Amino acid sequence: MTATGLRGGLATLFAIPPEHRLDDVDRDSAKQILGCDDDTLSALLDHGLPASGDRGAEHFDSRDLFNLALYSGTGTTVPEQAFAYSLRWMRSSTDDLLAPRASRLELRVACAADRCGPAPTSMLALPRPDRCGGAVSDLTVEPADDGAGRTGHPDGGGDHVVRAASGLAVTATVHTTGEQSRLRSPELRAIAAEFAAMELRWVKLPAALQDDVELIKTHGVASCASASRYLAQLCAAAGIPAVTRIGWVVGMLDLVHAWVEVEDADGATKVIDPIFALFSATVRGTNPLLRDPAVALRTNRLIPTGLQVGRPVAEHRCAGEPSAARTTTKILPAPTRHRESP
Ligand SMILES: [Zn+2]
Repeated sequence: MTATGLRGGLATLFAIPPEHRLDDVDRDSAKQILGCDDDTLSALLDHGLPASGDRGAEHFDSRDLFNLALYSGTGTTVPEQAFAYSLRWMRSSTDDLLAPRASRLELRVACAADRCGPAPTSMLALPRPDRCGGAVSDLTVEPADDGAGRTGHPDGGGDHVVRAASGLAVTATVHTTGEQSRLRSPELRAIAAEFAAMELRWVKLPAALQDDVELIKTHGVASCASASRYLAQLCAAAGIPAVTRIGWVVGMLDLVHAWVEVEDADGATKVIDPIFALFSATVRGTNPLLRDPAVALRTNRLIPTGLQVGRPVAEHRCAGEPSAARTTTKILPAPTRHRESP
């Protein structure tokens, strides 16, 4: 079963282009990701699974293996199971997707080098649920002082915080509520329906290709960033004000998500989430509102930043240049208590 599914998946695999390949996975790890035996792996190689190295000692790109497993339809591979697990919230009732929610958000960025270079700066995006009816409480930034004599909290309403330090942490309680509305503009509804009919495939892509709208048109594959850019472009071409937005999703760790905010004919700003619609089709029993192109659904799990696609949510610089950084994102349900007044 697994072998048949993987062979079928290989036929539609978008192979990571040569100039972006990592070939970071050996045969043993490849078998684990694909959930297959040695003979099946060899058969996949015979049928064109990209690899480098000598026969029997090949190396593979981890993104190819992830994407192949995810769309193999076996239901048993690690990527499929991880996906289904992190998307299980999509089966929630509409009430549960819209109800007020409080979450503890913890963001960290730190220099990845053994020894951080001179003149370090670290940056983190701030949660901005206030952009859509939510609020932030208990915001802390560590270090509180940026070392240059400026102190205290990031300026209220700012989109990010910067410190002259090798690392930075932001913690906050984030209050969100969902919203469901119908799309009023016929042009907007037509664009949303056209996009849904493209039946794009979300895939893991190298960072350099994540914003690449051309891959949508030529290969039908998208990241949440490129899908959002494309959708915003379609809106702009039709004269509908639209911007991309990046942020986090409660329950989906370490994923920086992207969606589109459009201004509808009634003047209201509405969220269209092109990738959640695709995802929801991959999990059984998901709430149908998530993939109704006539509905703008902003779930209470969406935590926006003030930033658009293409901007980093975390960055570290030292010795005068951008430097590799370790970033972590933790979002957990906040301890239950009455919401504090602002
Ligand atoms: Zn550093």
